Amino acid sequence: MITYSIGLKNRFRGITVREGMLYEGPAGWAEWSPFLDYDDATCVSWLRAAREAAEVGWPAPVRDRVPVNCTVPAVGPEQAAEIVRASGCSTAKVKVAEPGQTLADDLERVEAVRDAIGSGQVRIDANGLWSVDQAVQNLKQLQRFDLEYVEQPTATVEELAEVRRRTDVPVAADESIRRAEDPLRVKKLDAADIAVLKVQPIGGVRACLDIAERIGLPVVVSSALETSVGIAAGVALAAALPELPYACGLATVSMFTRPRPPANWRDGCCATPRARSGTVRRSCPCPASASTLGRRPASTGAPVHARLAEWGARASGRDRSGPVTSPT
Ligand SMILES: [Mg+2]
Repeated sequence: MITYSIGLKNRFRGITVREGMLYEGPAGWAEWSPFLDYDDATCVSWLRAAREAAEVGWPAPVRDRVPVNCTVPAVGPEQAAEIVRASGCSTAKVKVAEPGQTLADDLERVEAVRDAIGSGQVRIDANGLWSVDQAVQNLKQLQRFDLEYVEQPTATVEELAEVRRRTDVPVAADESIRRAEDPLRVKKLDAADIAVLKVQPIGGVRACLDIAERIGLPVVVSSALETSVGIAAGVALAAALPELPYACGLATVSMFTRPRPPANWRDGCCATPRARSGTVRRSCPCPASASTLGRRPASTGAPVHARLAEWGARASGRDRSGPVTSPT
């Protein structure tokens, strides 16, 4: 088992350093990297995803390429355009509604991305930070950049449903699925056009496939800002979904300060395991170099490996769902 602590090029989701744990089981390498502000109960699904990767492995892929988008954090317009140009992707996801910034900042950033990507797709993600009225008003202005969709414009499922009724921009649900007691409420309330699924928060590739089938919406697979080990699980999910109409948010390794992108990324796509070597689990090297592993994080007193080990033990104690198994 190894732990990692890797810097981010830009503050993202309030953090500047990503930390987590990697370990190898009989089925391959697994990543467990819940965000440090999560409580023990939230971490259980993340642990189940890791156990699936380590103990069971993943379902067979049905495609050999997964289109991916680049992610543009809440940076200035010049940097935003540079991120898009350097990515090689024809789809960009732009963070908006950053605390401390204004709609003018969002408009500048999205315009710069639209200019840089040309005829490609631009989607935005507000992480649930707008009110319904803000979302409707802001989307009226942002809409001129021909948005593919807006991800989680507001916090609750009811609000998503209202935004969806009041705007022409398609709505994608992210937090409303992965942090909800009932992920299917999004469907029941007609609150979204697209479901964003993330392997660790939902509890594994098979758990995501199950939700995808029951929710009946097109799926975008996204990362939880993992190393390439965790990203491989996202690629496995994207490769196994029956339909994959949108680019996936799996190109996030480039957001680390010392990225070492997997060798199978090319032209905005990631080759899926069968195409590459017949196996997902060993196809993606970890971007963390040995010198970063186990580094004492600046923000806490305990070494990251000791803290994560204790946390893992607590999450295991809460996991009442039995052994991780799969017939296929
Ligand atoms: Mg999101």
